[in-house]
Amino acid sequence: MMQLKKNSILVIDTNIFLTGINFNYFQEILFTTPAIINETQVEKYKEQNRNLLQRIELAKELGKLIIQKPKEYYIQLVEEKSKITGDCNALSNNDLELIALALELKENNSQEVILYTNDYSIENLCSELNIKFKTLFKNGIKNKIYFEVYCPYCNIVYRSEDLNKNCERCGLKLKRRFSKKEKL
Ligand SMILES: [Zn+2]
Repeated sequence: MMQLKKNSILVIDTNIFLTGINFNYFQEILFTTPAIINETQVEKYKEQNRNLLQRIELAKELGKLIIQKPKEYYIQLVEEKSKITGDCNALSNNDLELIALALELKENNSQEVILYTNDYSIENLCSELNIKFKTLFKNGIKNKIYFEVYCPYCNIVYRSEDLNKNCERCGLKLKRRFSKKEKL
């Protein structure tokens, strides 16, 4: 099993997912909102992002990615703040919700919360709310292998098509995990 460090909480924006996010890159637990997940699933991205959508599903399954809607209280707080700073025009409801989620997590956890986005207006409002943020661009993230199918007993790695089959050696049902292989 993967060793997950729980020191930080990361909140992920659509544009970060669409860089072709490699979940192996992060040791932390990732959070996002249902609306952001919907944005990654819109039709125009569907074909080119088949792999990404698969990885998002797997990350959910493994508890590495948690999808959570922020409480109304935090959405309103962020909305009011965006009106004061003038960022409200540049930010969509989905953006505001994402920032609200970061704020909620920050105020209810002892861990550091970092919002990952490539959106300048989001960054701006984050600074105003004392939410840490980082950007992440495509450079250096060229992993094409995201998970592998293996036997949990023999540790033999199978082809991904074998997922629902049983191990040829011991008969156990095969499982999948993130691949440790770094393909550059
Ligand atoms: Zn086996």
